[in-house]
Amino acid sequence: LPIEYKKAIPVIRKIEAAGFEAYFVGGSVRDTLLGQKIHDVDIATSAFPEEIKQLFPKTIDIGIEHGTVLVLHEEEQYEITTFRTESTYQDYRRPDSVSFVRTLEEDLKRRDFTINAFALKEDGEIIDLFDGLADLENHVLRAVGRPFERFHEDALRMMRGLRFVSQLGFKLEEETAKAIEDNHALLEKISIERMNVEFIKMLLGDFRNHGLVAFVETKCYIYCPQLKEDGEALLRFADLPSIPLKKESQAWALLLNQLGRAEQEVAPFLKAWKCSNQMIREVQRLVKGLAKRQERRLTPLEIYHLGKDASLDVEELMIYFQQTPDTTTVLDIYHALPIKTMSELSIDGKVLLATSEKKPGKWVSEALALAESAVVNGLVPNEQAALLTYLKEQQG
Ligand code: ATP
Ligand code: MG
Repeated sequence: LPIEYKKAIPVIRKIEAAGFEAYFVGGSVRDTLLGQKIHDVDIATSAFPEEIKQLFPKTIDIGIEHGTVLVLHEEEQYEITTFRTESTYQDYRRPDSVSFVRTLEEDLKRRDFTINAFALKEDGEIIDLFDGLADLENHVLRAVGRPFERFHEDALRMMRGLRFVSQLGFKLEEETAKAIEDNHALLEKISIERMNVEFIKMLLGDFRNHGLVAFVETKCYIYCPQLKEDGEALLRFADLPSIPLKKESQAWALLLNQLGRAEQEVAPFLKAWKCSNQMIREVQRLVKGLAKRQERRLTPLEIYHLGKDASLDVEELMIYFQQTPDTTTVLDIYHALPIKTMSELSIDGKVLLATSEKKPGKWVSEALALAESAVVNGLVPNEQAALLTYLKEQQG
């Protein structure tokens, strides 16, 4: 057992000592069996949330109506969820109500894919009710139960499926793939925020190209924001070298670049995906920088305006265009810049107004931009007198 599980054993034992069952479940069991690093340890139990809260001194209610209590134990936190079923899905998304049940089997049945439906006992025994081990072995992603019904009850599972294809490089089992295609239009009902989470995980997966091809083949892209017309472009994206993307902003930027979206289309596109304003600003820089970098290397002035991080992110993306990223040169250029931001310029608006007869106006910011470029390009030293002389010359 991985160390994360060993640390959690006392938690499981305590629940068992009180007369309940408790198992490790969910993504961490899958990842352990795949030999991958695990992030969060989820525990499923026959105890009710109130019973868990009585057993542990430090707990936080994070979703008590869904049966989940967060237990804090020796610096670690564990999501402990009561065995439950999900009944009556009226709107193709989350269930109207969850009912707690006392058997593990019922809980495992409501899970999405066979490889996500294992339970692991603290003694190492694996409970595998749906032949998930064979699917793991064969690299197959298969829905638990009847695929059509499962995607019809909760359409988000289709996007989850595609992101697991991308993260694991597994094939969609035939009926599972067909059921996704048959239900793809139900994605329209799912909240964009939840779609965004899965879509980004898909773009950042190690097997992004597998995920993208399945995303197009199952037609799911048609019901994603802004992608309706982009099936062919998405397949071209899938033809880029299969090197994993590192950052969310780089993923969006490369996608937008491959979809041929211009700089001014970036904000509406990402707004439709409910990205944060911070993310939108970051991606705008990368899209702009990447378009320039595809023609030629970035100039010092471009690197200055993009900033260090965005310039490096753009350079890294060149690996997708048959070029070896040269981040060393970008860094050298950045470090050699005489100023890094406008605030380091030796003149400002106050100085300009104090040394001129002219009234405040647009000319001030124009003159500052001119001085800024001259300094960055090494035409004029960053000194007040030199800059004022230079600006006088420029204005004729
Ligand atoms: P990750 O490693 O990205 O966290 P995960 O499989 O753990 O992947 P979670 O969203 O953390 O995904 O969900 C934990 C578990 O809950 C899943 O492994 C699965 O068993 C179950 N699950 C999550 N979402 C759904 C869903 N929409 N339908 C059915 N079961 C789900
Ligand atoms: Mg998880």
